[in-house]
This record gives sequence, structure tokens and C-alpha cells, in this order.
Amino acid sequence: MKNICYLFYFLIIFYSCKDTKDSSDYTVLKGGTVFIGNGNSISDGIIIIKNGKIENIGNNKTSIPDNANIIDVTGKFITPGLIDSHVHFFQTGFFDSRPDALDLRDSINYEKTQDYVKNNPERYYEAYLRSGVTGVYDVGGFSWSIELQNSAENNLYAPHIAASGILLTPASKERVKSFNTANDSVLVHLESAEHGKSVVRLNDSLGSTGIKIHQLYLNDTTFMKNMVAVKEEIAKRGNKMIVHATTLEQAKEALKLYAKVLVHSVEDKEIDEEFIKLAKAKSIIYCPTLIVSRGYYNAYRAINYDFNIHDPNNVVDAKTKNLLMTANRFSEIVPDVLKSDEFIENFYKRITEAEKIMSINLKKVYEAQIPIAVATDAGNPGTLHGISIYKEMEAMQEAGIPAKDIITMATQNGAIAMERDDDIGTLEKGKLADLVILNKNPSVDISNMRSITHVMRGGFLHPVEKPFEENMFE
Ligand SMILES: [Zn+2]
Repeated sequence: MKNICYLFYFLIIFYSCKDTKDSSDYTVLKGGTVFIGNGNSISDGIIIIKNGKIENIGNNKTSIPDNANIIDVTGKFITPGLIDSHVHFFQTGFFDSRPDALDLRDSINYEKTQDYVKNNPERYYEAYLRSGVTGVYDVGGFSWSIELQNSAENNLYAPHIAASGILLTPASKERVKSFNTANDSVLVHLESAEHGKSVVRLNDSLGSTGIKIHQLYLNDTTFMKNMVAVKEEIAKRGNKMIVHATTLEQAKEALKLYAKVLVHSVEDKEIDEEFIKLAKAKSIIYCPTLIVSRGYYNAYRAINYDFNIHDPNNVVDAKTKNLLMTANRFSEIVPDVLKSDEFIENFYKRITEAEKIMSINLKKVYEAQIPIAVATDAGNPGTLHGISIYKEMEAMQEAGIPAKDIITMATQNGAIAMERDDDIGTLEKGKLADLVILNKNPSVDISNMRSITHVMRGGFLHPVEKPFEENMFE
């Protein structure tokens, strides 16, 4: 029913937008400082939008068409819509979708959770758009996640989506069992060369953007041999490999297997010359996820203590918020080992150490001029869809990446990762009018991304403080 309502509201908005466009073909944003997304900017800029696309963009000499609907953004700052290059729509932001991390299946039915997640992606769409995120890359999900690429594309209440679909893993069948449902899989143990090729073919035939490998077990010679067949099948299909690699040796091996996107960060030791050489030779994109482990820490901690959500515009969906805020109701069923202060403290020590190495490596990757995209791993416990992008960008800034370059990593480079750089990611003539309007300058401090007031998706402007359902009635 909710879906039908959404469709109904969407049609109303669509047609009312159409009417507005008919009476005034052009929307013009005039007077702001515009960050293009490629490192350049225009002060006192003019952006002319028609039919959801950027008709023209330039300085204050740019001629404005007659009868344009002019929006004065003097003193404001504009960037392309943000792109989060690592999310999972099958994950809620709590443990109910991660039974491997904390098994709550006796209290919350996993099949029902997955059914709900599949049928209600709108709550995350809203969280993303109202955080300024107009594009997301789902790098690992059930087969249904690939369909989101098409269903979200023309929905002005959703971000653009790229999705890689089912993950291949060396982890045992027994270990991955808890993730999968009766009718679909998210994580599949790589059984043989033929099996690996068939999973590649399945994802690819559904239209997946990339094929993700969840971990490389370098000592598992059978797995690594089968990976050669997987690599060849990906190349044959013209698709690309994405690899979850958290150790230096895994990351190097991934590069030798022609991975194009490296997700997470090298966190066991500092990267070396060989890694840099390989990464540059294979022209990859490095997608660190600096905050996701701390998200787990915060979520585990919520069982005994509390969970702080900084969400001034109230964009996080109520269901997830409620689970995190009332996590201590699961205290009774959580094994002692996972809620003891000792576990929490050790976890904290471990992630703090890893964060240090990840930050050093990020700076090294940046200095080596290897392309980097902003990525959160949102959906994992404690890393919430939408708002997590601010914290990730702030962590990158703390690692020593200049704010002006983080803007490029959160826009243009994300679009390259999604293979959408022909129509999104930068504010250029002919591209889609996806952008955010901010009160404060993000190039001097990336936390100013939090000063967002509006997001535009395909030429349609949303005030971010307003819930979509309210906005839809106007
Ligand atoms: Zn992930």
C-alpha cells in the first residue's frame, strides 16, 4: 500500500513539476560559490537548469534566459550531489541484518527483516537525499539490489544507484548461511571455477555494476586458483572486479587480479612502494571506510549504554533509530562476552590501532595521486544510511586530506567508481542537475557539508529539513 501511495505522490509531483517547467522552462541558481567537483570552482556563479539537466554554467557574465525562475543563492556554496561509494541496502544499520556480528534472530526474524528492507528502500533513499547524497554504490547485496539501479533512476526522491549484487567469498558455506534467505543470497562461498563463473554470469546478466569479492584467503590455494577463473569471466563479460581487502598482502593480490575498486583500507601495516606501483599501473580507485569499525563499537556499546545520533534534520528512518536507541532491551539475550566492558575496551583498542594505520595509508595513497572515493559502508551496525557520509569525510580530513580535495572524492570520483561520470559527479553543461546548497564553505572545512539546506536531484529541489511526505503534499 505504501508503495502505491508513494507512486501516487510521485506522479502528482512529477506532473506538478512538469507544469512548473512548462510555465518557466529554466531554473537558475545565481550568485553562489560553485564547486564543480573536479577541483575547480566559480565564485558568483550562475547555473542554468532545464529539464533536469545543466543547460549552462559559468560566472556572473553568463546570460540568463528570459522568464527564468531565478533562485538567489548569494553567499551560499554549491557542490555536486554527494556520492557514497560503499553502501549496502540489505543492511539496516543495526545487528538485525548482521547475525554474524550479534545474533538477534530469536528476537527479530531475519527473513522478515530482509523482506522489509527489500520492499521499503524509500526510507534509505530519503535519508541519503536529505543528507545531500544523490548517488550511492551498493557493493554487495542480494540479487534484488541490482534492480534498484533501474527503479531508482527516474525517481526524484531516490539517489542514483549502482549495485554489484551477490558477493563471492572464500568463507565457508556454514559461515555465510546466516546471511542468506530462503529465496535469495547475498554471500556465496566460491565452490569451484565453474561455480564462480556462474555467479559472475548471474550478476552480470542482471546488469551488475562490478562483481565484488568479499575477502581473499591467500593461503587457500584452491580458492585463489578459482579466483583466476572468476577474474577471466569478469574480463570476458566486460565487467570489473571489486575486492574487499584489509591487509597489504590481500590488497596487492587483488591488484594483481586486476581489481578496479579496492574497498575498505589497508589496515594491518603501512603500504609500500610495490602497492603504490601496482595501484598506479592498474588505475584503480581506493575506497577507504574509516568509520565503519567505530560504528560497530558504538552499536555494541549501545547494548549496555546508549547510542548518540547527531541528526538535526531527522533524516534517519524511525525504525533504525528506534532499534539503536533501545538496544539495551536485547541485553538479556546478548552473550556476556559481547557486552562485557572488557570486550568493549579491547574492541576500542583494536579499532583505534587500525584507524591510525588506515589514516596513514590514506595520506600515502593521496600523495601518490591514486584516485580516492568517499565510502562509508553504511548499513553496517552503527553506520547509518545517509548521515554517515559527514563523519567519513571528517575522518578523511583528520587523516590529512585537504577539504577541497575531499569534495572531488565525494563527487567526481564516486561517479567514476559508479561508472556514471558521463552524467553525474560534476557540475558541467549537459550533466544532470544534482547538487547541494550549503550555508558554509566546504573547501575550508569539510564538516561545513553539514550546513546543507537543500539538495537538488534531477533539477528538483528538496529542502532537507522537511520530511518527504510533507514535501510531497505541497
Ligand atoms: Zn561493505
